[in-house]
Amino acid sequence: MFQRLHSRLLLSYGFVIVTALLIVALALFAFAALSGARYLQPLQQLASISSSARYELLRVVQSGGGLRDLALTLQQTAVDQNVRILIANTNSREIIYDSDPSQNWLGITVQNVNTPTRLFSAAQTNAISGLFEHPENGSRWLLYGEPLANLNRFVIFYAQRPPTPLSFFREYFFRPLWGAGIIAFSLSILLAFWISGSVARPLQQLAQAAEAVAQGDYAQQVTLAGPQEVRQVASSFNSMAAQVSQSQQVQRDFVANVSHDLKTPLTAITGWSQALLDGTASSAAAQQRAASIIYNEAERMARLVAQLLDLARIESGQMTLAQTAVDLRQLLTDVQASLALQAREQGIQLTAVLPSVPPVIGDPDRLTQVFTNLVDNALKHTERNGRVHIQLQHDDAKEIVVQVQDNGNGIPAADLARIFERFYQVDKSRTQQFPRGAGLGLAIVRELVELHHGRIQAHSEVGKGSLFTVYLPTGER
Ligand code: ADP
Repeated sequence: MFQRLHSRLLLSYGFVIVTALLIVALALFAFAALSGARYLQPLQQLASISSSARYELLRVVQSGGGLRDLALTLQQTAVDQNVRILIANTNSREIIYDSDPSQNWLGITVQNVNTPTRLFSAAQTNAISGLFEHPENGSRWLLYGEPLANLNRFVIFYAQRPPTPLSFFREYFFRPLWGAGIIAFSLSILLAFWISGSVARPLQQLAQAAEAVAQGDYAQQVTLAGPQEVRQVASSFNSMAAQVSQSQQVQRDFVANVSHDLKTPLTAITGWSQALLDGTASSAAAQQRAASIIYNEAERMARLVAQLLDLARIESGQMTLAQTAVDLRQLLTDVQASLALQAREQGIQLTAVLPSVPPVIGDPDRLTQVFTNLVDNALKHTERNGRVHIQLQHDDAKEIVVQVQDNGNGIPAADLARIFERFYQVDKSRTQQFPRGAGLGLAIVRELVELHHGRIQAHSEVGKGSLFTVYLPTGER
């Protein structure tokens, strides 16, 4: 029942309102019980009964009425005003008349009338007004009395039972408190609906968007609305949805690229082997050509599969690197030697400056792969008579810097930022003259460098050449 936000809010508001009203009610009840405030209004009422009765009595006296007539008049006033009337001797304060015959107070002395002075000051200084406790039966009465001008031997008291704290509370405080409760509760209903709406609406939108993502619709963005906490959730959801959408796209592209890059050599292999089988390639030269194409394409597939395996291993964290001290001077000398023939064939000058540097900790095979790939790329993209240079340096920041520089065709600025992405190739037609790669080489190079806690940067200018710089931490601490 109290699962929904607005019911919970309402419940808590209701609780707070009732508690607050109870505290106020208790304080007011204590005030009613402990202060003389509850006597104020009845005493004033008795005073006004007294003053109106006084004229009546004076009229009876002036018209020559006797004591009997006075008693009758008082009797009538007592009945009309629902009060008790007592007459006492002014000096002795002894009661000589009681309008209520059932409680005979005759002979009792009216002493110790307790006046709530702070709250009530009698208009007449000779008036006696306050709470009187019957000396024998302990009953409490409110009395108001003043001597009659012409009969000042007597004091006429008008008496009433005092109101109980509860009846006083009921009369004065109950309705306002009840009204305040109703107003506060009505406001709290509005507030609860408003607050729960402002929280629930964006959450519902979020739930719908999350549901859509679960169904495979990743292009979901929700508007940021509601309180800050809800906005934070919405903004985290938006960035999560964008990430998921992007990685889905990457995955789709990846599958499409891999399929395409595997299909192309397979088609060539199938076609040329078919030509060999059905005799289309009948001459020795044609057979030689078919065999060489099949060989090259199979090699290309093997290379692609090896690259994919490398990526899969890196991705799943299964690429374990040897942790040996690697002498980069020796390693780069070997890389240069292994590519010297290729460079010579292409008519490119492959040079290197390799001073001795502190060792780096890492995997020599993987580092060889990194630099072979960079030098190989440089050779592929450099024209005949060009130059590729390998430079080894040790800078002060406990880093080894390896630069591979060429004066080849360079990389357009727009592509430069993307060349480390998987399958990204600058211009597929440019590499047509070389055995084509799949655009995975630099992606793997960067992953391997980062696995060695290093970083790689590329600078390039179209028509002038490219510079790839690898920074690797030395083993020194
Ligand atoms: P691939 O394996 O297909 O060569 P890479 O990931 O090694 O792919 O390189 C990505 C792209 O960067 C290639 O398309 C290539 O055109 C470009 N590139 C890499 N190295 C150089 C270089 N030294 N000079 C010019 N372009 C380069």
